[in-house]
Amino acid sequence: MSAGSYYDVLGVARDAGDQEIKKAYRNLARKYHPDVCKEPDAEEKFKEINEAYSVLSDATKRAQYDNIGHDAFKNASKGSYTGGGGYGGGFQSDFSGFGDIFDTFFGGGGGARGPRPGADLLLRLSINLKDAVFGIDREVEVFHTESCPECDGTGSKTKKVHTCPTCGGSGQIRQVSQSLFGQFVRMSTCPACGGRGKKPEEPCKTCGGSGHTRVKRKVNVHIPPGADTGMRLRMEGYGEAGDYGAPVGDLYIELIVEGHPRFARTGDNIETEAQISPAQAAVGSSVEVKTIDDRTVDLKIPAGIQHGTALRIPGEGVRRRGRPGDLLVRVRIVVPKSLSDEERELYQKLLEIENKKGPGKKGFFKDFVDKVMGQED
Ligand SMILES: [Zn+2]
Ligand SMILES: [Zn+2]
Repeated sequence: MSAGSYYDVLGVARDAGDQEIKKAYRNLARKYHPDVCKEPDAEEKFKEINEAYSVLSDATKRAQYDNIGHDAFKNASKGSYTGGGGYGGGFQSDFSGFGDIFDTFFGGGGGARGPRPGADLLLRLSINLKDAVFGIDREVEVFHTESCPECDGTGSKTKKVHTCPTCGGSGQIRQVSQSLFGQFVRMSTCPACGGRGKKPEEPCKTCGGSGHTRVKRKVNVHIPPGADTGMRLRMEGYGEAGDYGAPVGDLYIELIVEGHPRFARTGDNIETEAQISPAQAAVGSSVEVKTIDDRTVDLKIPAGIQHGTALRIPGEGVRRRGRPGDLLVRVRIVVPKSLSDEERELYQKLLEIENKKGPGKKGFFKDFVDKVMGQED
């Protein structure tokens, strides 16, 4: 999509394996290292290459990146790499209008040693109002890491692991690099063990020693009746795989209920509107009203109803917690914009009657004001 995707930066395909990514990174890093390369934008390029590699070489970050896309990932991760301690704060940002989108909360742990639990994933799922009212089963696709079936998640062909000699088991190393602006130091994930603090005795060929494979899984989500925006459903064990021996993260599905052109929801009630004529309002009538599931029900309009009055159709609201909500139909009296000759004659006659009714020809409006003010002639 974007020319600046991390895959493009490293010049690899989106399904490139860990080894391929590492190789591409090494070649580019050697070529663009600011000490070696004299091109004016070498420094920038070198940074880009490192940034791309830090994401694509980490199965968890790579999965997030694939799921949410380049721009969203860059925005969402702003500031989250600078802490040095790794897995701190949340990972939220505003993705409105994107449809089904992932992001991630990092699973606990302040970067301490020991196997890291798998991260939780958050998927935002849009549903329409009707599905929110009645509930629905939806199939969603989740892109996550799972334990490598070949080595049972150990990353080791022999299924044996040793403490990493590069970082001494902490999973982190201090990196000092020279740049045009001087020296800078940063803590980064140990490249030898990928931050796990342990190294496989003999790397598993299938997963390249990571112990994880990235898979797309279909997950069936049961959305209960009465679901509302902001509701989170927890799908246990559908998050990211943890390090060997650590628990798998969970998948959270956060629901977004879309707006509806004819219905609005307030709590367990649903509101809609019915347009009636002045004649229907005055003498009473019966109108047809569509329910949220597209059935037609008759609604009795009592004589003398006022504009804006809400009429209640019991049981046609949100079905949740036993007693269902109601459908509230707000009545709008719509005055005709054009009249036939016959209609005009009748309205004219009506007006004459109204004028005669009140003493002193004050008409409908003055009559109304006098009543409200409690005055009698
Ligand atoms: Zn290490
Ligand atoms: Zn493996």
